[in-house]
Amino acid sequence: MTQEVKHVLGISGGKDSAALALYLNHLYSKEELPITYYTCDTGRELDETYVLISQLETELQSEIVKYQSEDYKSANEDNPFDFFWRKYGGYLPSQTARWCTNTMKLAPFEKAIGDTPTISYVGIRGDEDREGYISTKSNIQSIFPFRRNIWSVDVIRKILNNNLIEELVGYYQEQLEENMLDKAIEILRTPLSPRLKLEKKLNLLLDLDVIAFNHVVFTWLKTTDYPVGKLDYFPLIDNEEIIKRADVFQIIEDSDVDLPSYYLPLEYEVDGEKGKYFRSRSGCFFCFYQQKIEWVWLLEQHPHLFKEAMKYEKDGYSWIQGESLEMLSRPERVEGIKREHLKRMKRKYQNLQTKVSWQDDVMGVKKNGEDWLDELLDAEGDGCASCFI
Ligand code: SF4
Repeated sequence: MTQEVKHVLGISGGKDSAALALYLNHLYSKEELPITYYTCDTGRELDETYVLISQLETELQSEIVKYQSEDYKSANEDNPFDFFWRKYGGYLPSQTARWCTNTMKLAPFEKAIGDTPTISYVGIRGDEDREGYISTKSNIQSIFPFRRNIWSVDVIRKILNNNLIEELVGYYQEQLEENMLDKAIEILRTPLSPRLKLEKKLNLLLDLDVIAFNHVVFTWLKTTDYPVGKLDYFPLIDNEEIIKRADVFQIIEDSDVDLPSYYLPLEYEVDGEKGKYFRSRSGCFFCFYQQKIEWVWLLEQHPHLFKEAMKYEKDGYSWIQGESLEMLSRPERVEGIKREHLKRMKRKYQNLQTKVSWQDDVMGVKKNGEDWLDELLDAEGDGCASCFI
């Protein structure tokens, strides 16, 4: 009998987690996957994020639970970020000291989950090469439904360990017919070594049969304490669809949810030439992960938020290393950032053999099936998986 297992999906405000919620909601009934949607609110998100959350609640016909730090709730502050910022003595978070994600995103989530076995669905796409948030808590298991390999790296490391080869051969005998089985056994019985690394072995098994591999993993998980192993039935093991960036845009377009407007390119002009800029990420409006051109976007499109971000720069702390927002907002500096951005985008466009103008907008590029936008967003979308997926 299935033991109590929670299913959760974090909505960051980004397109990928929104698309994942829509995708799973469309494919599976609430009985099959009783997902609790949640968001961890820093109180300093863009308005577009709050609009997205509200539209998703309507579309999913489910509440999106807002998790906030318990410490903040008992304090007399306007928002969680300000509470922790003061607690850290005005020290701004940065890529090397990211106290914001730990205190406002991970800690409230893990506290709400407690010790209940929990499956966390993460919207890393099939065309991305990153792992995303893996909880250090053993009762939380991450699943990546958009990828060909839906399992987290810790599961893969354990199951493909050389010690388990004969156990897996036994599981595969339940899954495959003779000719396919022979091939699977040949792969399985080739031990991991410098010549056959983990990823290669995984890909050989997935190339052979994704669904058989998933069933084998599911069978093995039942011998472990992983949350998925506590289920009688896990429908995702029979789904081998891979969802890439263009599919994400399509899933959102097919719903009544709007793509957050900060993704839509807007025109700027420099030296008589036109370029386009947009924000590539959800999360706090002052996030230190943003590119300089995105700070310019914030300055010109949301000047009041730029001013708010400036207020945090005190006592020598700045969001960008070596440059304050006051310096960045000077007209000659803004022009310089746009000029450099324009040059970079042109170079990128020239390197791609594409008929699509580099000034085409998001949906236009997506519909033409070009991967220029993929390149652009990959370059500008690095950062924290908890905040931007
Ligand atoms: S969006 Fe950026 S600033 Fe906000 S919590 Fe995430 S990493 Fe920190």
